[in-house]
Amino acid sequence: MSDHDTTQNRYDLAIIGSGPAGMAAAAEAGRLGLHTALLDEQEEAGGQIYRAIGRAPLADEGVLGADYYQGRVLLEAMQAAAIDYLPGTTVWGVDEDLTLNVSRRGRSQQVHARRLLVATGAQERPVPFPGWTLPGVMTCGAAQVLLKSSAMVPPTPLVLAGSGPLLLLVASQLTHAGVPIDAVLDTTPRDNYRRAVRHSIGALRNPKLLFKGVGLLRALKRSGIPHITGVEELRAESEQGDQVSKVHYRRKGIEHQLDCRTLLVHQGVVPNVQLTRALELEHDWNAHQQCWAPRVDAWGETSRAGIFVAGDSSGIAGAQAAEEAGRLSVLQIARQLERLEEAERDKRSAPIFRRLSPQHVIRPFLDVLYQPARSFQVPEDDTIVCRCEEVTAGELRQIADAGCRGPNQAKAFCRAGMGPCQGRLCGLTVSQILADRSGLPIDAVGYYHIRPPIKPLTLGELADIAE
Ligand SMILES: Cc1cc2nc3c(=O)[nH]c(=O)nc-3n(C[C@H](O)[C@H](O)[C@H](O)COP(=O)(O)OP(=O)(O)OC[C@H]3O[C@@H](n4cnc5c(N)ncnc54)[C@H](O)[C@@H]3O)c2cc1C
Repeated sequence: MSDHDTTQNRYDLAIIGSGPAGMAAAAEAGRLGLHTALLDEQEEAGGQIYRAIGRAPLADEGVLGADYYQGRVLLEAMQAAAIDYLPGTTVWGVDEDLTLNVSRRGRSQQVHARRLLVATGAQERPVPFPGWTLPGVMTCGAAQVLLKSSAMVPPTPLVLAGSGPLLLLVASQLTHAGVPIDAVLDTTPRDNYRRAVRHSIGALRNPKLLFKGVGLLRALKRSGIPHITGVEELRAESEQGDQVSKVHYRRKGIEHQLDCRTLLVHQGVVPNVQLTRALELEHDWNAHQQCWAPRVDAWGETSRAGIFVAGDSSGIAGAQAAEEAGRLSVLQIARQLERLEEAERDKRSAPIFRRLSPQHVIRPFLDVLYQPARSFQVPEDDTIVCRCEEVTAGELRQIADAGCRGPNQAKAFCRAGMGPCQGRLCGLTVSQILADRSGLPIDAVGYYHIRPPIKPLTLGELADIAE
C-alpha cells in the first residue's frame, strides 16, 4: 500500500470509502493486480463500524466488544495490498468519464479511473422531533464516533431514545465504558413485533446475528437500566440557556419526563445516497427499509455501466455483507477489464454468494421490526426538518397544499435542502412529508437533485482544478 500524489495517476479502479466494503474490495483488487486507488475523507481506514481501528484509543477492549476488533483482519489485508491508499480525501464530484474531483489536504485534484466502486456506507436516519436541534441532543452514532475515535463519553444525566440495533449496541458500549445511563426510551412501535414475526424464518437462517441482538437486550436488562418500551412521542426541552435539560415522552397516552444533559437518539441507518444521486443513477424506494437505494445487479453494477456500489450505500445489510459485496464487485470489474476469466470469476464468487445469503435473508425481519414510528418520519408541524435553512414540517405541508409536488420544487418555495449539508439531513423527511400530504406515492414525489460539490468546498480549492 502506498500514499501517492494523485495528480499523476490514472487507475483501473477507484474505490470511494474505506469501510468494510472498500477495504475488502481494495484487498481483492490488489490480489488481482488492478491498479487501484482507495479514497476516504477520513484520515484512518475502518468506516463506521471499524472507525479508528488502526490506533483504537480505548485501552479496554471490552468496551467496544470483539466485533469491533475483527476489523484488524480487514485492515491488515488492505495494508498488505498493492494499491494507492488516499486518506483525508473527500470526493466532491464525479464527471461523466469517471474523473473524480477530490479535495485533499486543502487542494482539489483529479483522479481518473476506468471503473468506479462507490462504498460510501450509511448515515443515521434523520430523527426530527420537537427539540431535536437543541445542544445536548445528539445521535447515538455521533456518541459512538467520539468513543471510538477519542475515547470520549457524553455528559450525564444521559438518556437514550429511539429504535434499532445500534441503540442497544451504544447503550451496551457506554455501559462498559462506565457511563451511567438513566433510561433507554424504546420507540419501536408495538405492532412491528407482530409484523416482523412473518419474516422470522429468514431470521432463523442467521442465528448468530439473532443471538447477538437477544444478547444485547439481555445485557440491557441485567444492567438494571430502565428500558421503557412502547414510547410513542418524544420532546426535548431546555429550561435554562439552550442546552437540553429534559426529555418528555408519551407512553400509553400519558406524558412522562426525565432530566438529562445528553439525549442520544437513533432511528436506524439509511444508505448514504449523496454521491449515487449526484451520479444520476437509478434509485428505488425500499418499503421495508423506508429509504432509497441505488438499483444494482448481483455484482453491484448500477444503471450506469462501469459504476458499482457495494456495502451499505447500496442498501442496509451490515458490515459482513458489505465486505462480501465489495469483493464481488471487484471480481466482476476484473472480469470486465479482462484480468479474470468468466469461469474463474464464477469459481471465486460462489463461496462469497453463499456467505452473503444469510446476511440478506435476515434483513426483512430486522427492517420490519425496526421500522421507525410514523411520528418520526412525518413529524408534527412545529418540528424543524431542514436544520440548515430552519424549515419546519408545517411549512412543508403548507407548500404541498399550495401545489408543490416534489423536493426540488420545495427548494424554490422555502429553500429546504439548500444549506451546507445539501439535503443530506432533511432529504428523506422532506420527500416523506410531501408524499404524505399530497397523497402521492413517494416514488412519484422523488428526491432532491444532488449537484456537485456534494460537500462544502472553498473557491480556492475549486480554482485548483483549473490549474
Ligand atoms: C454512525 C454509524 C455507526 C455505526 N456503527 C456500527 C457498529 O458499531 N456496529 C455495526 O455492526 N454497524 C454499525 N453501523 C452500520 C455500519 O455502517 C455498516 O454495517 C458498515 O460499516 C457498512 O460498511 P460500508 O463499507 O458499506 O460503509 P462505511 O463503514 O460507512 O464506510 C464508508 C466510508 O466512506 C467514506 N466516505 C463517504 N462519503 C465519502 C466521500 N464523498 N469521499 C470520500 N470518502 C467518503 C466514509 O468516510 C467512510 O469511511 C454504523 C452506522 C452508522 C451510520
